[in-house]
Order: sequence, then structure tokens, then C-alpha cells
Amino acid sequence: MLKITNVNVRLGETDYASVISNELNIPKRHIKNIKILRKSIDARRKKVHFIMSFAFSSNHEEKLLKSHKNLSIYKPYEYNYLPATNDHVIVVGSGPAGLFCAYVLAHAGNKVTVIERGSKIEKRVGDVDRLMREGVLNEKDNIAFGEGGAGTFSDGKLTTGTKNPRIRYVLDTFLAHGAPLEIGYDALPHIGTDRLRAVIINMRKELESLGTTFMFDTKFVDFYEQDDKHIAVVENAEGRSELTCDVLVLALGHSARDTYRMLDQKLEIEPKSFAVGVRIEQLQSTINKLQYKQDASSPYLQAAPYKLAVKTSEGRGVYTFCMCPGGVVVPSTEKEGYLCVNGMSYYARDKANANSAILVQVNPEDFPEGSLGGIAFQEDIEKKAYQLGGHNLKAPVQKVVDYYCHKKSEELGKVKPSYMPGTVLEDINEVFPEYINRNLKEGLQLMNEKMPGFIDDDTIITAVESRSSAPIRILRNQDMTATHFNWVYPLGEGAGYSGGIMSSAVDGIRGAEAILKRNEE
Ligand code: FAD
Repeated sequence: MLKITNVNVRLGETDYASVISNELNIPKRHIKNIKILRKSIDARRKKVHFIMSFAFSSNHEEKLLKSHKNLSIYKPYEYNYLPATNDHVIVVGSGPAGLFCAYVLAHAGNKVTVIERGSKIEKRVGDVDRLMREGVLNEKDNIAFGEGGAGTFSDGKLTTGTKNPRIRYVLDTFLAHGAPLEIGYDALPHIGTDRLRAVIINMRKELESLGTTFMFDTKFVDFYEQDDKHIAVVENAEGRSELTCDVLVLALGHSARDTYRMLDQKLEIEPKSFAVGVRIEQLQSTINKLQYKQDASSPYLQAAPYKLAVKTSEGRGVYTFCMCPGGVVVPSTEKEGYLCVNGMSYYARDKANANSAILVQVNPEDFPEGSLGGIAFQEDIEKKAYQLGGHNLKAPVQKVVDYYCHKKSEELGKVKPSYMPGTVLEDINEVFPEYINRNLKEGLQLMNEKMPGFIDDDTIITAVESRSSAPIRILRNQDMTATHFNWVYPLGEGAGYSGGIMSSAVDGIRGAEAILKRNEE
């Protein structure tokens, strides 16, 4: 088969055989078995169009290859599993890092046990619904904790800034378990929380059929080594028990602060930079107009995304993060007394607002001293946001124009906050140290200069977005083991080695490969 890249396709065009035949100047009947490989939107020119790549077969492939520069031989991606070992692997955490680590190990043929402090999705959906509708937080099972990890109740953007061939494996695995076909080729793939939940349930069922054991509602609380035995200590409704394993994977995510505190006594942990800020909301129709201009209401274009990054006069990076077109703002805390928010969307991305985090970079010199200083910094602003919201998980909301003037908004305009379980009009300046407010304000202004119309009188912000990535890194060796523990593998976002669904899944796969190679001579 051949691959053709960078083909311009007008909105609504689906006769791809004609498109390719025009591009190559050959009869349409010579083009067969077309597969879309990539589709991106080009909104730089007046008329928005798609840029696409295809695989196809033809009876004249050799001749075509010689005469067309944008053609090459198409080689489909294939993942080769390493052979199994005798190691029984306990994987703590069923987020993308833990799940994909378990998936690769189980497919190789290893014995795997997955420990997850939250519940399986079927129950988790109810707990998250109660949190959003009634403001009742289950500290064991919520948006941060539970099957599928933090990404399950997310926007389900499957984009990543990293390049790695294993990304294809992750997408193919999602596709094999029921993900929408477009994630296989869209330049900005999106699955949505509704479709992702179903995919994760299907992956769990397959893993169980391969012999993997899942222990939900079970918290990992300690680990140690005794007489050459490796022990993971867990707690659940039946009490405390000790599980023997050969290898322990820690794929905890960035919100397991109690587990971080336990690990800090045993592993080498260093503080790392992360970012804090607010979630901004505009009408999605406003963003569509800014991005797609006269094509804003085209039925062939979905809710438009945006991405902005600026540097303030003080040298701090301020950037948009986890932008959710047509989504909602959600409470992503795991603990009563602390408030943080994030963004979620369904596959249809059809809600009235666009939302995105606007974050200011913070560095270890900004935190209290010590390996967990970043957590203390996060907790401080999350507590302030909780108190400002009225101690009941309602979130402080303010118009951006009022945030500049340090005054509570008296009423809101066209943009209504999507956050559930509710909001209060408060002055968000009170949540942050002054330098964060200063840089956020300058950053927002610079963003509005880059994308005029990004902020108007009705644009609102919700506080506080504090968990864009882990505030720590667990040090690991070249072979991905933790320093001083050659049987413990800290993986994924919580260990400080990834950010987002895709890069966390990739770190989990790399971890599985490292485990499968551990007994090699
Ligand atoms: P996690 O997904 O956090 O998984 C860690 C798991 O470990 C959790 O299930 C937790 O319950 C479990 N755990 C922790 N401690 C213990 C313990 N002691 N015992 C047992 N189990 C434990 N990323 C994107 O790429 N695209 C998006 O659109 C996107 N949207 C998001 C929206 C929201 C609301 C949130 C909260 C996050 C979003 N993210 C998004 C970020 C993404 O979810 C994370 O980067 C990703 O899930 C990290 O994967 P992970 O496996 O490393 O950790």
C-alpha cells in the first residue's frame, strides 16, 4: 500500500478517491482500499479546510512512487510483545499508566494484580454524579480516584506533546475496545468521558479473561522487603493484608497525597515545577467565531479548541492547559476541605461553554522547603478556595474584568458557569499569593493580544486549578526502578514522568517493557 500526505480537502468532501485521483492526476478507478491516516484542520487561511493523509492501494504503485514526492510505502504499525517472565507484578493504580502497564504485562503472559483505592466505573459513575449534583464528596471514590484514574472523568483529549511509537499502540488498544474511529486519525483526537468509560470497562474485562486480578476499593498503604520476599500492604473493607509479589508498580497519579507522605519515608523524592491558576469560560460560539471565522457554524467542524502560551515581563510562563471545547468545569478534589477544579467533556462536546485552565508556572523556590513543599503550596491555595466558596465545594467565580479590579462580580453576563455543584461570586485575588495574581493578569492580557476577543466583559474564571501535574518526582534509575529498590517501579504522572492520558499510558507501557527485560542477562 502507498501513503499520500498533506492533501487539502474541502469541508464536507468525503469522496476521497476523487481527491487522491485529482492530486495524483490518475483515474479514480486506480485507487482502492482507502484508509484515512491523519486529518487536521487548517484555519490559517480565509476558507477553513482539512489537511489529510491516506493509505491506499493501486495496481501501479511502483510507477506512482517514482513520479510523486508526497507518496511513500505505507507500513502499518505493529507492537511486538516481549516474552513473559515468572514475575508476579502488583500494579498500584488503574489510571492510564497502571492500566497500560498491566495490559502489556498480561498480554505478554505475566501474572498481574491491580490494586485500586477507588471503585470500579459502574459504581464510580454514581459517586461522581452525587458529587456534582449534591456536593457530597466520597473521599475514596471521586474524580481523582477510581477505575481508569483521573482521566476517566475528563475531556478525553488524546493529544500529547511527546513523540513515541507506543502512542499508536495506545490508540489502537482504545479502538479495539470501542473508541470512536476518528481517534485513529484525527490530529487532535478526542474520546470524551462517556466513550472512555466504556472502553476502560472493556479493557478490564479483557484483562480479567487473561487472568489479571483487580482489587477495587483497596488502598495500598505500605511496602517492605523481608527474607527476600517483597510485600505490598493493602487495606480494604476486610481489613489490612499483606500481598507477596516479585515486582511492585506505583502508578498513583498526582492526587494521592497520603501515599506520597508514606513514600517520602522510603523513596527518594524531589520537588518539581508545576503550575496553578484558574479555569476560564467563554461561550463556545465565541471561540468558534474567533477560530473558524465565516466557517464557524459549518456542520463539518466541531467545537473549536485553542491553545495559547505567553511569557510575562517577570519571565513566568502563563499558558492554557487541558482546554475543553463544549465541556464543563468539574470538582477534581479527593479531600473535604480542599477545592480544585478541572475540565470534562462528553464525546459530543455540545455544551454551551468552552473552558480551559490558565496556569502560571511555579517552581520549587516558590514553595516551602522539603521534598513535599509543592504539596503544601497546593494545599494552601486549595484550602483558601474551599473557604472562599463557603465550605461546601461551591467554587468562587468572577468576571475577568472584575478580577483585574479586585472586586466581586455583582452579576454575570452571557457566560454562565458550568461548574457543579454550584458557584459563589467572590474575589479570586484572595486565593493566590500576589505574584500569581500579577502574572495571571499580565498573561491573560497578553493572550488577549494574541487572540483579540479571547476576553470580553462576560468572560468568567473559576478557582482554583492547582493540579495540572505532580508537584514531586520519585527518583528512578535508568531501568525505571526506584533508587535503592530494584523491584519497585514508580510510573506515570504521579511519579513525575508524564502529564496527560497518552504520555502516562506510554510511561506505563515502557515500565512493562522494563519489567519484562529485568531478568535478561
Ligand atoms: P491517574 O490517572 O491519576 O491514576 C492513578 C490511580 O491510582 C487512581 O485511580 C488512584 O485512585 C490510584 N491510587 C492512588 N493512590 C493509591 C493507593 N494508595 N492505593 C491504590 N490506588 C491508588 N489528560 C489528558 O491527556 N486529556 C484530557 O482531556 C484530560 N482531562 C482531564 C480532566 C480531569 C477532570 C482530570 C482530573 C484530569 C485530566 N487529564 C487529562 C489528566 C489525566 O487524567 C492524567 O494525566 C492521567 O490520568 C494520569 O495518569 P496516571 O495513570 O499517571 O494517574
